[in-house]
Amino acid sequence: MLHNSVTRSDATPRRRRSDTVRAPRFGKSSRANNQPPRSGTDRTLWLLVAGLTVLIIGWAALGLILERPRLGVVAPNAVIGFEATVVLTRFFSALVLFLFPHGQTGRSLRWVAAGFMILGLGGLLFGYLPLLLDRSTNLNTLQYTLLAVSLVAGGLFVEGLLFRTPPPFTRGKLIILFVVFNLLLIGVLLGVDNLPPLVNVSSPEAAIHGGLLPTPALTAWHFSLSMLPLSLSVASAIGAVHLYRMEQRRIWLVVAMILLAGSQLHNILWPSIYTPVLTSAHLLRLASAVVVAVGGIVELRRIANEHAVLLAAEQEHTKRLVEIAALKADFTAMIAHEIVQPLAAIRGLTDMLATNQLTSTQQSQALATIHKEADMLTTLVSDVQTVATIERDDFAVRRRAVPLRPLLPDAATFAQALPGNHPLTITVDTDEIVYADPERISQVLRNLLNNAAKYSAPGTPIQVHATRGVKHVRIEVIDRGSGIHPDDLRRIFEKFERGHDQVTRSISGLGLGLYLSQRILQAHGTQLEVTSKVDVGSIFAFELEIKS
Ligand code: ADP
Repeated sequence: MLHNSVTRSDATPRRRRSDTVRAPRFGKSSRANNQPPRSGTDRTLWLLVAGLTVLIIGWAALGLILERPRLGVVAPNAVIGFEATVVLTRFFSALVLFLFPHGQTGRSLRWVAAGFMILGLGGLLFGYLPLLLDRSTNLNTLQYTLLAVSLVAGGLFVEGLLFRTPPPFTRGKLIILFVVFNLLLIGVLLGVDNLPPLVNVSSPEAAIHGGLLPTPALTAWHFSLSMLPLSLSVASAIGAVHLYRMEQRRIWLVVAMILLAGSQLHNILWPSIYTPVLTSAHLLRLASAVVVAVGGIVELRRIANEHAVLLAAEQEHTKRLVEIAALKADFTAMIAHEIVQPLAAIRGLTDMLATNQLTSTQQSQALATIHKEADMLTTLVSDVQTVATIERDDFAVRRRAVPLRPLLPDAATFAQALPGNHPLTITVDTDEIVYADPERISQVLRNLLNNAAKYSAPGTPIQVHATRGVKHVRIEVIDRGSGIHPDDLRRIFEKFERGHDQVTRSISGLGLGLYLSQRILQAHGTQLEVTSKVDVGSIFAFELEIKS
């Protein structure tokens, strides 16, 4: 009985019949395949856009229809908290968007970030700080500053979202933006008295208490001028929708831009921004900023994860390159070592033959040895060639339905030429058609028979058995050789790995035969198994799928 068996893992998947099995390609991205089907995504998008638009317009209409709209309430303290939250969220959103990596997306989002920064600054300067410091400002002035802030921000959104390739947002442009923004505000603050009034009341509280808001307190100028930032916001929302349709990404930007446009619409009807009146526009503004902040964070996380995966693949690639470099060095040294011996033998023997002083028996012995050494060199070169093929990305086995029997006599012919005069018995208990690449399976059998002959004493028998299982034929190569130490049983299937025992050391070899055989069998969806006991012998076995 032989012991110490290493068996095939059941977890190893079997490949489907007549597959062409290929080694996986390194680092191939499947990102394009992950895109959702376009029509389904489009439907969701349009539903979302329509739903939000109806909600915002319906909400505004409700405010107009109802007698005492609850869309605006005087709540100075609440407004301070609200303004602070909106300002902080907008600054945070701007920061998140600035963090996006450079490139097409980063370029668009930097303009959007600048827009949110301007909105945040406007809220801070005219909404939060005056309320906090209890400085009441003329309602008309506030309306004009709001108009200026919204116009600048709207322009930035349009720049980033409406064009397929927006210009890069540079530091120089940031400085220009601040200068223009400040000049505009100073101009508004200084020249407001010379501008046509936007509201007919001095304070929003008065308007609300007098029941004037929304419409009677607002002038035609207010409505006409407010159309400008509203149009810019609507254009940005359309740009965001367009971008989403192109890239199937950033639906949060679409939502945020629609909410922002909605807040401007509500603000036209209930202009309460930068005043102690809390309105539906506030809620929409906050919702828009929150959506950008959350969406931006989620997408940044996704980008970070993608980068981590790429980095891991890159590290793996680098590791493999280092391994390959080390292997190349080892490989060259081993090949040189393996070639030197047979070459020296051939050289010595040919020198002896050249003297013409050998008896005919000595001559035929010398020729036989030269033949044997030349065979060894041929095997060596063939192994090296096969390794090169197997390591290539496009290595494939062509499994097809073939009769089992003809595979084995080929192995028998090969075994007869092996050194050591080993009697070979082949028993085939079955006559099945199996799925196999005959050339590759013959190569496996040749490797196993070669090893059986190499690692057994001359004259000891070698057997090849083929027996039928339920769905597979099992092929075994059995020898009564030196056997394999249990510690070596797993290692010997690795590239360049050899047994550590005395017998192996005395026999030349590269440690490639079992590695090649295992790779070929794995490409067939099966595994090479070994059962062995030191000084008793070894059984190498594998299975081939029967054609049903
Ligand atoms: P090589 O024979 O060139 O060393 P292989 O990959 O064919 O390379 O074999 C790896 C190792 O497995 C051998 O070095 C040897 O130690 C062990 N081995 C393989 N087949 C046998 C066998 N039939 N009997 C004993 N040891 C074996």
